[in-house]
Amino acid sequence: MAVRTELEPLVGILNKVFLSISEKEKAEIANNWLAVKVQTGIKLSTVVLWVLPISSFLMLIAILIFVRLNRKLKLESIENAEHHKQLQRMAHYDVLTNLPNRVLLADRLSQSMVQCQRRNNSLAVAFMDLDGFKAVNDRYGHNVGDELLIEVADRMKEALREGDTLARIGGDEFIAVMGDLEKSKDSEPVLKRLLKAAADPVTLGDAVMQVSASIGVTLYPQDAADADQLIRHADEAMYIAKLAGKNRYHLFDTAQNNAVIIRGQSIADVRSALDRREFLLHYQPKVNMNTGEVIGVEALIRWQHPVRGLVPPLEFLPAIEGHAISLELGEWVIATALSQINQWQSIGVNLPISVNISAYQLQQDNFTTRLSALLAAHPEVNPHYLEMEILETSALNDISQVSATMNACHELGVGFALDDFGTGYSSLTYLRRLPAHMIKIDQSFVRDMLEDEDDLAIVKGVVGLAKAFKREVIAEGVETIEHGVELLKLGCELAQGYGIARPMPSSGIPEWISNWKADDSWQAYKG
Ligand code: C2E
Ligand code: MG
Ligand code: MG
Repeated sequence: MAVRTELEPLVGILNKVFLSISEKEKAEIANNWLAVKVQTGIKLSTVVLWVLPISSFLMLIAILIFVRLNRKLKLESIENAEHHKQLQRMAHYDVLTNLPNRVLLADRLSQSMVQCQRRNNSLAVAFMDLDGFKAVNDRYGHNVGDELLIEVADRMKEALREGDTLARIGGDEFIAVMGDLEKSKDSEPVLKRLLKAAADPVTLGDAVMQVSASIGVTLYPQDAADADQLIRHADEAMYIAKLAGKNRYHLFDTAQNNAVIIRGQSIADVRSALDRREFLLHYQPKVNMNTGEVIGVEALIRWQHPVRGLVPPLEFLPAIEGHAISLELGEWVIATALSQINQWQSIGVNLPISVNISAYQLQQDNFTTRLSALLAAHPEVNPHYLEMEILETSALNDISQVSATMNACHELGVGFALDDFGTGYSSLTYLRRLPAHMIKIDQSFVRDMLEDEDDLAIVKGVVGLAKAFKREVIAEGVETIEHGVELLKLGCELAQGYGIARPMPSSGIPEWISNWKADDSWQAYKG
């Protein structure tokens, strides 16, 4: 017999019991208890009956849950992808026409530009605006307007070649990018097809309606701009197509645009050169060949450019012609000449200065007022010492207004010469009607008068005219003694030219005057 340790007192009791019972009874107890077989582990029958079905059931439920969850996840991710795709579409395509929008267009255009460089060919950007679309919208309503847009967009897309892009960038505005052009002319058939596509009538329900397109085109790389600029240039050209009567295309003028850019640059350059005081005047003497007298000097503007050196006037004046900056520069010339007169007078050199005045400046309404202000700023200078040479007389529009201005300036004491006489048109009318006391024979006639009989005839004619109209006459472009002799023979004593002196800085003038003597043959001439 065995007992649990904490029941130790039982041991004695049990032993006593064993001693008190018979051998037979002992055998019976042993038989009863030792025959019992103890089973360890689970019985197979239990497994078959219970464990398997229950675990299979649980497994099935788990699998079901897993499958369901998985399917849900999958659906969600498909939905997400759909959503993403939709967002992408909305970001890159126009909802109404399904055409690429501005964003995608920019992308495609940049790609095409890169391709152009690689393949060494051209592309065209066509900016299209429908003519008469607003009328359709107003008359038939927005829904019909939308239908029309869809139809026209489809047709225009058809009109393009494969690989071209058509984008809608606004209400009735479209842009086409046509790549792979060998010659710029290659875009023409496509443009014509686009015009036709836009202008063909559209039937919607009972209504037949018709619009057309105005197209502006620019070509890359002929128009060496960036993508944004290309679109802007095509847009500008489109406006010209509209102005020219619609239903047509207009090619952006690269050359003209360059001229505008260069002009803008020139204006900015002159502006800063003025601020930095880079302009100066050189002076070229004017003389009486017969008496040997120096009658004055002409002020000729120069630009002391920090990089280009001394720049002559014809290299920067034409680019600013007609712009406000040319007026400012013109006034600077007058003010500088007035200071110079004063400065020379202070050292005993009394010398009139003539300044060149553009027709544009002379025709400003406030010309006389401005001139009197400049004179007032130099009260020490007698206005008689200032003279004006009127350039491009042919550009004078209103002769009576100009002659009134000139008379008003005379009142102030300032005289006029007509420069470059003989060039341009209707010189005779100007001579008769403009109160200028002097005419300057253009250097081109004077220079060649010794070899060219026609030029000689012109010089002769101008001298005769001056006498007839009682004007003084001066010849410019006197390059040699012979020129002077010939001019004296014709009755022209006043002269200016390289044969006498080249234009020089103001500092050189006093010395030049004290040294200069007219050539003997000139002085000896007796008319
Ligand atoms: P212009 O008024 O007819 O000036 C005469 C031009 O002929 C000057 O050129 C002078 O240097 C040049 N010249 C003088 N003698 C001879 C000669 O014997 N042979 C040759 N081949 N040329 C001679 P420049 O200084 O280059 O000026 C050119 C033009 O620029 C001027 O023609 C005038 O129209 C304009 N200009 C000059 N200064 C001014 C200015 O301050 N304001 C304005 N608005 N125009 C100016
Ligand atoms: Mg002149
Ligand atoms: Mg001249």
